[in-house]
This record gives sequence, C-alpha cells and structure tokens, in this order.
Amino acid sequence: MSDEVLVPSLTMSLMGSQTVDPVSAPHWAAGAQGVFNVPKCDNCGYHRWPITHACYHCLSRDWSWDAVPGVGRVFTFTWIDQPTHNTAELQNIAVIELEGTTGEPVRVPGWVVEVDKATLRCDLPVVVDFDIVADGVGVPFWRLA
Ligand SMILES: [Zn+2]
Repeated sequence: MSDEVLVPSLTMSLMGSQTVDPVSAPHWAAGAQGVFNVPKCDNCGYHRWPITHACYHCLSRDWSWDAVPGVGRVFTFTWIDQPTHNTAELQNIAVIELEGTTGEPVRVPGWVVEVDKATLRCDLPVVVDFDIVADGVGVPFWRLA
C-alpha cells in the first residue's frame, strides 16, 4: 500500500507504510464487502476477538471466520481532546459489544462517527459501516443505530 492511507470516517490519513497481516486479512477483505466477521471456534462455537490461534473457552486451535450481524452496543468509550490531525473532527475511541455472537461477550475496538459528547454514552445501539482504505481492505467504524 502507499505511505498514506485516507480513513474518511476519521477525516484523516494514516501515515507510514501500512501492511495487512495475513492472519487478519480475511477480516479486512470481508469489511470491503460490507461484512463484519470474527473468529468462531469450530469445536465449541464460541466467537472471539481479538484474533487468537486458540479458543479462550475450549483451547481448540480449529476456527473459521463467521459473519456476524454488524450491530452492537457501546460498551465503553473515551474522547480524544487533542486531535491527532489538524483536519480531524472530534474523535472518540469506543469498545463495541457485538450482538449475535455465541459465548462470552465479544468486544471490538473502533470509533463512533457523527456523534457529539452530549450524545455518546454506554449501551447506545450502533451499526457497523466500513471505510474502504485500499483495494480489498475495509476498516469498520460505527454509527448510532
Ligand atoms: Zn472453543
């Protein structure tokens, strides 16, 4: 990829060489198709995040990617009061607890767009959207449902 990757939902570009890890590549490729997927254990059926080689629940090393609904709730968040880029809009970092998963709650990092400090709160329902940052690479972000 190039040395600058535009991330529209962050209204900024990431600088430096960006590469896709082969283990996580199917996640980003699914995102480019508008699908949010997470690892699912082939043995016990538990979903998980982050990507790990073994299941937290049963320790099986057999797993597959599984598409989940792409909806969830804000589990926690914080605001970035010092913008990371001079054109960046007000940004937050959020942890989203996914709906439609099996096993322990699956929580993923991200950010919520088009929301202000007075509105964003824990437990708000959100829906995923994706920035296409390169050919076949979709980066998820979240909007209020
Ligand atoms: Zn398992």
